[in-house]
Amino acid sequence: MDKKYDVIIVGSGVAGLYCALSLPRDKRILVISKWALDSCDSFLAQGGICMLRDESDYDAYFEDTMRAGHYENRKESVEIMIRSSQDVIHDLESFGVEFEKKDGQFVFTREGAHSNNRILFHADVTGKEITSKLLARAKERDNITLKPYTTMVDWVCRDNVCYGIVVADLDGKTTAIQGDVTVLACGGLGGVYPHSTNFRHISGDALALAMYHNVKLQNCDYVQIHPTTLFTNQGGRSFLISESVRGEGAVLRNKAGERFTDELQPRDVVSRAIYEQMEKDGTEHVWLDFSPIPKEEILSHFPNIYKRCKEAGYDPLKTWVPVVPAQHYFMGGIYVDRDSKTTMEQLYAVGETSCNGVHGRNRLASNSLLESLVFAKRAARDIANTTSFKQPIDFGDLVNIDAYEDLPSIMEYYHAMVVGEIKKEENLRRRKEAI
Ligand SMILES: Cc1cc2nc3c(=O)[nH]c(=O)nc-3n(C[C@H](O)[C@H](O)[C@H](O)COP(=O)(O)OP(=O)(O)OC[C@H]3O[C@@H](n4cnc5c(N)ncnc54)[C@H](O)[C@@H]3O)c2cc1C
Repeated sequence: MDKKYDVIIVGSGVAGLYCALSLPRDKRILVISKWALDSCDSFLAQGGICMLRDESDYDAYFEDTMRAGHYENRKESVEIMIRSSQDVIHDLESFGVEFEKKDGQFVFTREGAHSNNRILFHADVTGKEITSKLLARAKERDNITLKPYTTMVDWVCRDNVCYGIVVADLDGKTTAIQGDVTVLACGGLGGVYPHSTNFRHISGDALALAMYHNVKLQNCDYVQIHPTTLFTNQGGRSFLISESVRGEGAVLRNKAGERFTDELQPRDVVSRAIYEQMEKDGTEHVWLDFSPIPKEEILSHFPNIYKRCKEAGYDPLKTWVPVVPAQHYFMGGIYVDRDSKTTMEQLYAVGETSCNGVHGRNRLASNSLLESLVFAKRAARDIANTTSFKQPIDFGDLVNIDAYEDLPSIMEYYHAMVVGEIKKEENLRRRKEAI
């Protein structure tokens, strides 16, 4: 790893990798990841990725996204995302990504709150298929340096201009790296929650730094709880049972074996119904009944989910599976404009770290991979079109590397800041709504 790059990208999920691949090949790019390069939520995505099928579905797709987001979405961003979807899927295919097809035509599936089948998928490992291909292409590029086990611990900035970042390796050794542009692609914040489908190390570090350096945030209390994760008594990351399982017909049952809600409502509504049912029943979970789905469909469309449920002692072909809601996705984040620019110069944010307003209050299923990709490409295009960048008089003068000696305390402090901000925003919103 050198001490200076044209572009520094923090995060090796779909947003970070696609941004790197969309930048001109004459840019020297560094991509860092806090943990292994494939330890990111992008690899975990199961259900799929939305695409506008044709013009006849535009209004319905737009309306579904807005309705799921309680009409708090930024309309301009929703329009950009939907209109760019075919172009992004075309790019992904050119990078070698394969989606389910029949007779050479895409097969589309459906998830909760979608009025039409418009989701492309690769079995139940769509995220792995997309992200592993992007990673493979990034490894082939001479202009991209990939650095795992490297944690961003601070930004190097002055007078609201970002000049680079401070990173730490696994031994806690810190280094300042200069970049004309820094792109935050650090994912969500599930790591600060005890029960989450996210990797534990993805814990909102960029949000804490944004608070610290007065960069605008938006909707920090808009945290999505996924209705159906596999219930176990073991700790660790919660295993998601994709919404497309319900989209294909699985139903929720209470302690008495009765259906108690419409499974295809938006996620926040279904999660609330499950919590209420658990309270009524005095249980720690409800049941998911796969039996309405044909056996062949379970085995071919959901092989990974089938295997994980069986490993936990529940064969979905024979028995109901216990499920419980868990933290899943972050709709808020670092405020960005239509080109993914934050309120600090030379600093962009893409993917789950950013808030471009696409999701409003609640994300529509399978919109986040697409949103991450669309706005990562826009960031890359904006960076490529920028002809000059501010340079510090003396980069070294802006950093006091000794200030990062006690890294564990610093990271703990960041986590506390994130948790505090979510709570503060929740309280403020409750008070506003009560008036
Ligand atoms: C189980 C699961 C299933 C999902 N299913 C779907 C689906 O079917 N369809 C869909 O559209 N979406 C789905 N999602 C959501 C979607 O996967 C994510 O929103 C999306 O992949 C986020 O991509 P990203 O690039 O922003 O972040 P991530 O893929 O989470 O990557 C974050 C990166 O940032 C790095 N990082 C974080 N902090 C630091 C730091 N301080 N220093 C250095 N590096 C750092 C991490 O190491 C990682 O490399 C799912 C999510 C989960 C968890």
